[in-house]
Amino acid sequence: MTETPTTQTLHTLLKTHFGYDNFRPNQQEIIEAVCDGQDALVIMPTGGGKSMCFQLPALALEGTAIVISPLIALMKDQVDALRANGIKASYYNSTQAQEETQQVLQDLRDDKLDLIYVAPESLSLLDNVLSLAKISLIAVDEAHCISSWGHDFRPAYTQLGYLKKRFIGTPLIALTATADRSTQDDIAQQLGIARARKYISSFDRPNLFLDVRPGQKRNEQILKFLDAHPFESGIIYCLSRKSTESLAEKLRSNGHTAKAYHAGMTAEERTKVQEEFLDDTTPIIVATIAFGMGIDKSNVRWVIHYNMPKNLEGYYQEIGRAGRDGLPSHTVLFYSYADTMQLRRFIDDATNAEYQLAKLERMQQYAEALSCRRKILINYFGEYLLEDCGNCDICKNKPEYFDGTVLAQKVLSGVARLKEQEALGTVIDVLRGSQNAQVFDKGYQNIKTYGALKTVPWRDLQQYVIQLVNLGLLEIRFRESGRLLLTPLANDVLFKGKNVQLANLLQPKVEAPTKE
Ligand code: ADP
Ligand code: ZN
Repeated sequence: MTETPTTQTLHTLLKTHFGYDNFRPNQQEIIEAVCDGQDALVIMPTGGGKSMCFQLPALALEGTAIVISPLIALMKDQVDALRANGIKASYYNSTQAQEETQQVLQDLRDDKLDLIYVAPESLSLLDNVLSLAKISLIAVDEAHCISSWGHDFRPAYTQLGYLKKRFIGTPLIALTATADRSTQDDIAQQLGIARARKYISSFDRPNLFLDVRPGQKRNEQILKFLDAHPFESGIIYCLSRKSTESLAEKLRSNGHTAKAYHAGMTAEERTKVQEEFLDDTTPIIVATIAFGMGIDKSNVRWVIHYNMPKNLEGYYQEIGRAGRDGLPSHTVLFYSYADTMQLRRFIDDATNAEYQLAKLERMQQYAEALSCRRKILINYFGEYLLEDCGNCDICKNKPEYFDGTVLAQKVLSGVARLKEQEALGTVIDVLRGSQNAQVFDKGYQNIKTYGALKTVPWRDLQQYVIQLVNLGLLEIRFRESGRLLLTPLANDVLFKGKNVQLANLLQPKVEAPTKE
């Protein structure tokens, strides 16, 4: 049995192997927990420093850490970088020559490795050797790939559930940058670490201005936007390949240096466009979502969504490419009902269509929101922002609000009395004292909040409840038939009389300000 490394030891390793003086937020806690033998679920935005959370324990603990990663193309680079830092690392995947894999297996048996990256498909081939090796910890990187509710499901990940049973007592750490709350739960469940502590790092990017605009005359709006942002680098995301090309053409004919990028282009063409973007020869890229993965350009000043993304994960990732240098950056989302309908048609044909539709609905609610957009976005990833951000179109141009505390209390207590088991529709029916069979069958006419909001029209109440979700007081559990749950913030409203401001529905939605 090895001793748990001290904080001092961890700091020394951080300094000597990586050259850093301090841990990033959450890193130390996570590393200490893992070194102490605990499982962990880590939700940290891209660039937050996830790798350190398993690399440092791999150094500190005796034996070899297994790191499961789907990014085969990056394994060699990652391993080279680690070796350059004096860490004994290797990788194992299907692209290697036999001599190479033999060597890796030998090293593993001889306990010569701190850490080994393994593709999920190749894990079973290692199984024999793993019985002979001493495994210090297991890290599952890009852990959202295990969940078919996530946005990047990989079948090979589903077999990883056996790890926790196979290596009893070995800590397992799962890491991802994109997982909403239900996906987080699904990951933990499937990996057999349902009781593991969740470490959620802040997803807030306060330097990004969040702007949503009605989707009329987009080309005109974009040209105006570009005039107001001369010499700035930015990305415009479109839904189709064709529209990336036609819009790039349109921008060029208006004197802008812009190029299209999409998966239909050859690899060389794409690399060329990417390089020109990185060195600022082509400041504007009009792209499908194929663009951006692995591109690290710090001075992207704006990101425009010509069409609405399918879900908030994608949206967050794409706007996140702006302002990596921390300087103020602008994001614009164009929103139209027609786009939503088109996305719906795509989704109707997909597997797990119901779940994807629910996510699309959250995206739509974000676009139609009457309250601080950042609150909604941050909340979606399981964080709570208490104050309005002051840096989104709604905060800059607030709708009229009224004191909705009593209404909110009635809704929240209704949700509580329905034992957090019912979805939006039923909650509203009960609050409005509906006489429908579903309500009566379950005896809901007897609960105390039945009819408590009977004077509020159905549609209005629906809007108010969605506002409460957007304010972070309620949560919609997509995977569980959309049932509504109270969040920790709800207690303050129910029991401490915390004031709730709701946007007036009578007032038409304020048009987002244009830049000028
Ligand atoms: P993620 O996997 O979360 O996207 P990485 O693990 O690639 O992020 O880390 C992003 C960058 O942050 C890397 O260059 C890494 O070296 C750096 N980094 C990680 N931890 C620290 C730290 N404690 N101090 C300074 N830089 C760090
Ligand atoms: Zn705001």
